[in-house]
Order: sequence, then structure tokens, then C-alpha cells
Amino acid sequence: MGFMQKFRQFMYGRNGFDTYSFFLFIIAFGVSTANWFVWDRLASLILYAVQLLFLGYAIFRILSKSVHKRSAENRTFLKVWNAVKNFFILQKNRIRDIKKYRYRKCKYCKATLRLKRRRGKHTVKCPKCRGEFKVNIIV
Ligand SMILES: [Zn+2]
Repeated sequence: MGFMQKFRQFMYGRNGFDTYSFFLFIIAFGVSTANWFVWDRLASLILYAVQLLFLGYAIFRILSKSVHKRSAENRTFLKVWNAVKNFFILQKNRIRDIKKYRYRKCKYCKATLRLKRRRGKHTVKCPKCRGEFKVNIIV
């Protein structure tokens, strides 16, 4: 039996590689890189332990046979990751559009609306839920 076949047999019924594990590897790599710049022995040792924890957890997840639990964790991770990503995209757009638009949340459905920058109080109609509410654009 070849190595790949043995490996496939070993991995059968296990969670395998997913986005969350990939993220954990990246964190471990980041901690390891940061450790290059730490000269204090104790701090360096602690960072090394943290790195091993992340690596260990990533490997545990890859080899885990509780596939349902692991994929639920992965889904939760993706949800949080997307929320963080969208937050930064919104901040980037806010800066890009700072001269022409203002971003406000809909009072009812919490959708983020991009409004023309017109100073003063206006009534806005949300295109998503059709709810009307007042906004005050000061600057
Ligand atoms: Zn709305």
C-alpha cells in the first residue's frame, strides 16, 4: 500500500483541513514570527507555548473524528470572520466616500444605508424594508 493510500485511510472519517484550522496555523505562524523580536527569555517561552497551543489545536481539529462539532465550529468561525471583514470594508468605504456620502444604519432592519451628504435633518426611506426614519447629517 502506497503512502497516499495509507494517508487517505488514516484521514477517513476525520475532519480534515478547513478555514478555521488554516486561520489557527496563520496565528501560530504570526506568534512565531513575533517571537523573533522578543529577547526576554520568559516572554519568549510564553509566546512559544502560545504558538504550540494554536498549532496543537489546529492539528487536533484536523484529526478530530467529531466531524459535526468541528464543522459547526468552522461555521461559527466563518460568521465571525465575515462580520470582522465587513466591518473593515465598511470603514474603508466610509473613508473613500467621505466627501460625497454618509453611512447610517436603518432604524428598523439594521441595514447600512449610503446617503448623499446633505447637511441637516432628512427623512430617509430604507430601500430594503421601506421603513422611514429621520437622520441628522451634521458634517
Ligand atoms: Zn430598513
